[in-house]
Amino acid sequence: LIQLYMPLNFLGIVYREIRQALTDIERMFNLLKTHREIADAPDARDLPGGPLQINFDSVSFAYDPERVILKNISFAVAPGRSVAVVGHSGAGKSTLSRLLYRFYDVTGGAIRINGHDLRGLKQGALRAAIGIVPQDTVLFNDSIFYNINYGRPEASREEVYAAARAAQLHDFIESLPHKYETKVGERGLKLSGGEKQRVAIARTLLKNPPILIFDEATSALDSATERAIQGQLEMAAIGRTTLTIAHRLSTVMNADEILVMSDGQIIERGSHGALLDAGGTYARMWTLQQQEDGNSGDGR
Ligand code: ADP
Ligand code: MG
Repeated sequence: LIQLYMPLNFLGIVYREIRQALTDIERMFNLLKTHREIADAPDARDLPGGPLQINFDSVSFAYDPERVILKNISFAVAPGRSVAVVGHSGAGKSTLSRLLYRFYDVTGGAIRINGHDLRGLKQGALRAAIGIVPQDTVLFNDSIFYNINYGRPEASREEVYAAARAAQLHDFIESLPHKYETKVGERGLKLSGGEKQRVAIARTLLKNPPILIFDEATSALDSATERAIQGQLEMAAIGRTTLTIAHRLSTVMNADEILVMSDGQIIERGSHGALLDAGGTYARMWTLQQQEDGNSGDGR
C-alpha cells in the first residue's frame, strides 16, 4: 500500500505546484497583455539623464468610451520640483499616475516629459525613469531580498539593506527566522498592507529614479511609522520630479503646487497657504482633518 500511497501523495504535491504555476503564468500573461497594448514607435526616443520636466496638457481620458474619467487636466512639474494631488476617492488621482507610467494612452491632449510626448518615447526609457509606489503593491513569490533588489538588480547587498532601513523595514526583516531570504507573496509569508507598502518604498528608494510617484504610499501605515518614513520620502524627493497623491493633507503641505481634484477635474490649485487663504474645498478638508487629528490623538 505504501508503494501506491507515495506516488499518489507525490502527484498531489505536483498537482498543487502546477496549479500555482498556472495561476502565476496567467498573471504574467495578463501583465504582458497590458504592456503589449502600447508598442514603441520605430523612431521612439530615449530620455536624457538628470532632472526631468513633466507636463499634462489638456489631458482627457476614459477607460471605457462611455465614461470620461479625466477632463481637460493641465499642470506642470518643473524639474526636481513636486506637485501633489488630493481629492475624494474616485476623483481620478490614481489614473493620473497610470497615464504617466503609460499603462494607458490618453484619449485627448498629451503628457510630455521634457517636451516629448510619452507616445514618442521608448517605453523602457520611460519606465526606467519613473519609480512608483502604488496604492496596492503586489509582491513576487520570492525572497524579500529579491523583492527589494528588483528596484535595481545591480545594487549591492549593503544598498538593499540601506533602502530597507530607510523604509523602516530592516529590523522587521532581521527578526524573521530566515531574514532577507524569507519567501513572501502568495506562497510565502503574507505581509500586511503596511509591510507591503514599505517593501514598495524600499524598492523605489533603491531604484532612485529621476521621477517619483507616490500614490497614497503611506496610507496603510500607522502614524508613527508614517512620520518616520515621510522624512525619508521627502529626502528622496529632493532634486527629483515628484507627483504625490495623498489622502492625508499634512503629507503634501510642502508641495510646490497642490491640485484638488473632483470628478475628473481640477477644481482648485495653489500652494498650501494660498489654498487655505482661498477658503474653499481644500481649506474645508484641512479643517476637517485637523479636527480628526485632534479627536483621535494620532490622526486616525
Ligand atoms: P482615485 O485614485 O482618485 O480614487 P481612480 O483614478 O483610481 O480614482 O479612479 C477614477 C475612476 O475611474 C473611478 O470611478 C474608477 O472606478 C474608475 N476606474 C479606475 N480604474 C478603472 C479601470 N481599470 N477600468 C474602468 N474604470 C476604472
Ligand atoms: Mg487612487
